[in-house]
Amino acid sequence: MQRDNQIFELIEAEKERQIDGIELIASENFTSPQVMEAAGSVLTNKYAEGYPGKRYYGGCQIVDEIEQLAIDRAKQLFGAAYANVQPHSGSQANASVYHACLQPGDTILGFDLSHGGHLTHGSPVNFSGRLYNPVFYGVDEETGVLNYDKIQAIATKEQPKLIIAGASAYSRDMDFKRFREIADSVGAILLADISHPAGLIAKGILNDPIPHCHIVTTTTHKTLRGPRGGLILMGEDFDNPFGVKLKNGSLRKMSALLDLAVFPGNQGGPLEHIIAAKAIAFGEALTDEFLHYMLQVKKNAAAMAGAFVDKGYKIISGGTDNHMMLIDLRNKNITGKDAENALVKADITANKNMVPFDDKSPFVTSGIRFGTAAITTRGLKEDQMKVIVDLIDQVIMNPEDEKIIDAVREKVNALMHSRALFNA
Ligand code: PLP
Repeated sequence: MQRDNQIFELIEAEKERQIDGIELIASENFTSPQVMEAAGSVLTNKYAEGYPGKRYYGGCQIVDEIEQLAIDRAKQLFGAAYANVQPHSGSQANASVYHACLQPGDTILGFDLSHGGHLTHGSPVNFSGRLYNPVFYGVDEETGVLNYDKIQAIATKEQPKLIIAGASAYSRDMDFKRFREIADSVGAILLADISHPAGLIAKGILNDPIPHCHIVTTTTHKTLRGPRGGLILMGEDFDNPFGVKLKNGSLRKMSALLDLAVFPGNQGGPLEHIIAAKAIAFGEALTDEFLHYMLQVKKNAAAMAGAFVDKGYKIISGGTDNHMMLIDLRNKNITGKDAENALVKADITANKNMVPFDDKSPFVTSGIRFGTAAITTRGLKEDQMKVIVDLIDQVIMNPEDEKIIDAVREKVNALMHSRALFNA
């Protein structure tokens, strides 16, 4: 078979783009070479519908061992009693949880998408908003921070069956204990979606949802620095309060329902090459090196946020506890869309993002989101955050000035070109 140069040349071009640029998309990271090696391995050839020891295909004895290692390491990393490592993505992890816990039409209470929530937390264009009845909580306009009394009031009024604590653009820690009190007061199941801060949570740097939330979902490719994928966890198993009773009158265990909801409920064959890569990433995350990495991610985010504030930028909630920040650009007279486009020309990648109470559409937005997980993997430290903010500021203040943008791009390339993608 002839080598497909058309595609491989494009992959090489993408590699160069990743090497030369400053990656500030809060949901991205660079995996280790061994994670990529596993993801590109012969395991992609194997069908393995089912779970370790209970497969619908022969020849699964080796992938069984791999998947069991991934499960055991995920449990160890998060202190969980249950882990399902098969979801192909964070969205499919969430879809599976809803499938296990709810009936179509049931009410779910999630973080408003325009305040920082995720599509799968009830957006009308997503399965979560189409199959279920979504209601939302958000942040206070003045503080940009969650107001738990208001969440309680909404829960009491709406009586959701599932409450989702988690976000894609919220820079503060979450009070999962308080969320559980709210959930218990209305008899709801509490799901924490820790897709963004998972790595920080795994290393004890942020509040731990496992003791408080019934179920926890995460992606494996953001701060956790694994391959693209999803993961479902539980601190302890429980009877699904909304479940159909078995013949003996008892309720089904949530662990059984979640396994069934992933396969065959939402997916067919698991991606064993990705599961092997997840196992490697969980193993990496169990090390002290990963703790140092996560501490540096947080320090870098704090340094970056401080540098933005010094330059007169308005950070939603005033700062950050985690790896990201959301900036309201309205006092800089530029939309999120225009800022994103100008930054891309300078080889700085970030994404436009709605800010709470935004008056612009999701395609334009008034905000931009920055995260430090990826640049910290490349080995950058606090001092370089100030340099980066200075470069970003030059672009945002002069989005039409090609000369300034060219000069910034040269500095960006000079800073990044000789750095490995995986360096920390
Ligand atoms: N949940 C949250 C909070 C997210 O931020 C994301 C992704 O951005 C997801 C779920 C979905 O993950 P995926 O893109 O893997 O479907």
